Amino acid sequence: VIEKGQAEHSVITTCAYCGVGCSFRAEMKGTEVVRMVPHKDGKANHGHSCVKGRFAWGYATHKDRVTKPMIRAKITDPWQEVSWEVAVNHAASEFKRIQAKYGRDSVGGITSSRCTNEETYLVQKLVRAAFGNNNVDTCARVCHSPTGFGLGQTLGTSAGTQEFDSVDFADVIMVIGANPAAAHPVFASRMKKRLREGAKLIVVDPRTTEMVDGAHYKADYHLKLKPGTNVAIINALAHTIIAEGLAKVDYVSERCDMAEFAKWEAFILEPKNSPEAMEEVTGVPAAEMRAAARLYANGGNGAIYYGLGVTEHSQGSTMVMGIANLAMLTGNIGREGVGVNPLRGQNNVQGSCDMGSFPHEFPGYRHVSNTTVRELFEDAWGVPLQSEPGLRIPNMFESAIEGTYKGMYVQGEDIAQSDPNTQHVTAALEAMECLVVHDIFMNETGRFAHVFLPGASFLEKDGTFTNAERRISRVRKAMPPLAGLADWEATMALSNALGYKMDYKHPSEIMDEIARLTPTFKGVSYDRIDELGSIQWPCNDAAPDGTPTMHIDTFVRGKGRFIVTEYIPTDEKVNSRYPLILTTGRILSQYNVGAQTRRTHNNTWHDEDRIEVHPHDAEERGIKEGDWVGIASRSGETVQRAVITDRVQPGVVYTTFHFPESGANVITTDNSDWATNCPEYKVTAVQVLPVTQP
Ligand code: SF4
Repeated sequence: VIEKGQAEHSVITTCAYCGVGCSFRAEMKGTEVVRMVPHKDGKANHGHSCVKGRFAWGYATHKDRVTKPMIRAKITDPWQEVSWEVAVNHAASEFKRIQAKYGRDSVGGITSSRCTNEETYLVQKLVRAAFGNNNVDTCARVCHSPTGFGLGQTLGTSAGTQEFDSVDFADVIMVIGANPAAAHPVFASRMKKRLREGAKLIVVDPRTTEMVDGAHYKADYHLKLKPGTNVAIINALAHTIIAEGLAKVDYVSERCDMAEFAKWEAFILEPKNSPEAMEEVTGVPAAEMRAAARLYANGGNGAIYYGLGVTEHSQGSTMVMGIANLAMLTGNIGREGVGVNPLRGQNNVQGSCDMGSFPHEFPGYRHVSNTTVRELFEDAWGVPLQSEPGLRIPNMFESAIEGTYKGMYVQGEDIAQSDPNTQHVTAALEAMECLVVHDIFMNETGRFAHVFLPGASFLEKDGTFTNAERRISRVRKAMPPLAGLADWEATMALSNALGYKMDYKHPSEIMDEIARLTPTFKGVSYDRIDELGSIQWPCNDAAPDGTPTMHIDTFVRGKGRFIVTEYIPTDEKVNSRYPLILTTGRILSQYNVGAQTRRTHNNTWHDEDRIEVHPHDAEERGIKEGDWVGIASRSGETVQRAVITDRVQPGVVYTTFHFPESGANVITTDNSDWATNCPEYKVTAVQVLPVTQP
């Protein structure tokens, strides 16, 4: 299926799926990809790959690609194919009309973690400079925004502390709310190699994932907690370490703010945070929590890797801070083999956050209210900028329904499928007067659009992605854009039509501007990336070749800050009507909302989302393997087929979210993280009952 003939030349580029950021050689015959071969010099993957990056690239030339810009007056009208010039002029005049009628803040934009750093930078620049407001947000809002907040508060910067190679020096690996075997396969293989060499493994997850019972190793402890009780567990682990005298006192006193530590220590030692007190809350035996805490504190280098099972909760930010507290308490930050490492889901989540996609931050995580920073950007961009943070994505939806937010430019994100409580999202999109969707396929969001701009895949453009270890790697054009323009060129055209001049000849010029304006990127350029292969930021005068390990002598914020992490149960409660908790995750062969992988041969391995039900719950409801079941929550209902398995615990059901027809987000709720509004995808009270085949 894959072989198509002999390659004539090859192009080194970066996988556009997950946050591992594997380097590939795209072998080409003319402008056609013959095969993707993992690049042996790739520093994130060292010549390895998974079924997505290696085989699932066919979507790039799939017949469903939209290759012509389209416009329509109403969302019930048929699409009309037009030139790029007509499309961007139409979008620009609509945005101007809306701002004239409803005010400057009635429009905004959403950047994509699928697009390059340079493209993300341009979208946020367009919003701030051409729209004149800060209504820009990113799809990281719904995944790792709590990482940004939590690590920023405790350590001083919102990024993982280590490079992937660091896992080779870990003695104890703690995986929390992540299933890298499915979602970050190449890094999972590195981790498994280390486990086979004898490293210990603690898994904190409500489900028995592939990480718990691998073919050649077993987790030493699987803390199979009830969904929504992460903070209770992390507090119990910290309580044990302090109460049993296992803390690295010298490290804490030398590296951390002792006044903050004293407050936190008094809190964590309260009896309510003991494993015994948290046993019923979490469903995990106190003895297991104590044993896991001892292993992490005493077992040598302890490295924590976590995923969306940490962040996508009403206490997502609290849990990220709890993880940082635990690592500081045990001296596990600042050298190889340790650290706090968020596993980013999408290829450029790290980069989209770095590039200033949030409504309160310029590139480099600097607040828009900071006058010095704002003046720097005003000088560079030649326009006055706003000092008040703009709307987050959930606020955009609320404002749209209220009638004050009327126009939006969405690049590379299918918010109608990926954001929670679909009914609420679609009501907001229906209320828009000008929705511009910029994507490679017509998607669910496109159903509500007035302008559709055809996007370019990663094979059709130059740029950079930044992976989960802060590694900036080149994306290189292997074929011309099918629709004529790469995404950065389309954004530039829209900005120019709006009257704000952008004139970049190549994405390298955009990166040069980013480097001029962002201290952590000061030493980054395409020439340097080509010379070094890739660069981990910070890259500047102090670290001209980049920074594999952060916080070596001091934390970025100076002294590490312990923060009190009170466990507060989620508002999403089970009751007799909705007695089960639904949690969600991913499978190896599919990717996110499936727009790419569903259009490849990977679809033959998994062609539908299914719901896992524990045998006890299945028997109680008369559900058998493969039966169709209805899943109902307070938000909505959907139908899937059942898998009966004790990988889930009694009272908990689990599904994936790769297929629009399965409607996983029809049933998720509006609950979100208290600090960042990251949706609480991981906890939804549901009922699951047999239905006849739909
Ligand atoms: Fe692509 Fe991630 Fe697979 Fe690497 S591990 S090939 S980056 S999907």
